[in-house]
Amino acid sequence: MQSFLPGPAGLVTNPFQDDKLHEECGIFGIFGAAPDAAAHTALGLHALQHRGQEAAGIVSFNGERFNSHRALGHVGSAFSAEKVMANLQGASAIGHVRYSTTGETILRNVQPIFAELVFGGFAIAHNGNLTNAQRLRRELVSCGCIFQSTMDTEVIIHLLATSRFLNIQDRLVDALRQVEGAYSLVILTQDSLIGVRDPHGVRPLVIGTLKGAPILASETCALDIIGADFLRDVEPGEIVIINERGITSRKPFTKAAHRFCIFEYIYFARPDSVVEGTSVYEARKRIGAELARESHVDADVIIPVPDSGVPAAIGYAQQSGIPFELGIIRNHYVGRTFIEPTDQIRHLGVKLKHNANRANIAGRRVIMVDDSIVRGTTSTKIVEMVREAGAREVHMRIASPPTTHSCFYGVDTPERSKLLAARHDIEGMRAFIGVDSLAFISMDGLYRAMGEPGRDADSPQFCDACFSGDYPIALTDQSGGGNAVQLSLLAESA
Ligand code: AMP
Repeated sequence: MQSFLPGPAGLVTNPFQDDKLHEECGIFGIFGAAPDAAAHTALGLHALQHRGQEAAGIVSFNGERFNSHRALGHVGSAFSAEKVMANLQGASAIGHVRYSTTGETILRNVQPIFAELVFGGFAIAHNGNLTNAQRLRRELVSCGCIFQSTMDTEVIIHLLATSRFLNIQDRLVDALRQVEGAYSLVILTQDSLIGVRDPHGVRPLVIGTLKGAPILASETCALDIIGADFLRDVEPGEIVIINERGITSRKPFTKAAHRFCIFEYIYFARPDSVVEGTSVYEARKRIGAELARESHVDADVIIPVPDSGVPAAIGYAQQSGIPFELGIIRNHYVGRTFIEPTDQIRHLGVKLKHNANRANIAGRRVIMVDDSIVRGTTSTKIVEMVREAGAREVHMRIASPPTTHSCFYGVDTPERSKLLAARHDIEGMRAFIGVDSLAFISMDGLYRAMGEPGRDADSPQFCDACFSGDYPIALTDQSGGGNAVQLSLLAESA
């Protein structure tokens, strides 16, 4: 889900030109779980809180009417009031957690979005980013559509509302054939819960069941929290329709190469989730082990940057035989540094968040392991802290290749000029961060850790655009209507 910045003459300006970060989201839906559909949804969203911490929303249907509550802040605070939950009656519900970093954080941009359409009520929640939404929005506005929010997801509603097809499923297919980009969707209508994954399957979506009530969720951790069983992943390009008659599946889109986001494994998904058959935790450990094989350095202690670097650091330590210690302690009562709005506060956030555990650092040669370097802010501060704590040497090992390109498919990354790896080579980054040595896992090493023989350059097995600049889906809004190849050239020369 991406927000646009409203521009002059009601048109949207380019949301990628500001220095704000983009969005990532978590979605959940449950069908036939009276009377607790909304409570299950709130719990599911709580498990998905890492996917979006600035706002949350639930829409439920009680057989007669749709009820909705959307609020800024964490799920716990948004859905703690008894009155709020009492109002969300019904046997089915969908929910959404979001980061809201592009443009303003305002309630009209909080999902699920609800609309009364010709066939009845329709609520939708979206994880991902549409890459031609600005173009579609301009076309729809010029045809008289009136947008209520600045979110890309709203174009799907207008395309559906104006579709010439009769039933809701055909209208949905018609709408989705016009959109480009990454999308996992959960949709609630009067008689169904619908789940969709885009043809490349960039973002995750799983199907579960709780005592016979079908569930859709971004990650399996949202099933675990309510004791639901995992059934299967929604497949790329699949539309899953859940209603009183059961679960049916359609695959109406032209088949496309499967390009699941590899960064979900590296950082974004929760380590206790199983994504496309692979445990995120185990994948991270294997990445750490591969990193140790590729970039060994003699040291006394392996220290993870908590929490995201922990599984990779365990894998690194197991592979290298160097002891693992918690040398940096994280204060869990501070939000992710990324959601702070200004650089100044972001710096402050990093200091508030971590502290050195001196006993494990003083006089030692330290290898620090983290999942990724984006701007370099976190690493620089932590290295300074570890040096102040008396480390004799500080080596940094990163469980992803250098992040050289922005994500346009739903992961929060700054514009390219802010990415450390887009501005410096490895030696430049090493000097910037202030470490004795710096190494990133190689692209082939990353793919090996994911169980592949290496990266297939002609048809990569994952979306790794943030590391390669190889964007699998056209970035129409970015290139003024061009195709993916043009865009990646454009990105290279930026
Ligand atoms: P930076 O200070 O900009 O280099 O941030 C890098 C840190 O942010 C890494 O250690 C990651 O744990 C975390 N990170 C990486 N990507 C994201 C993201 N898309 N959203 C939030 N945090 C991220």
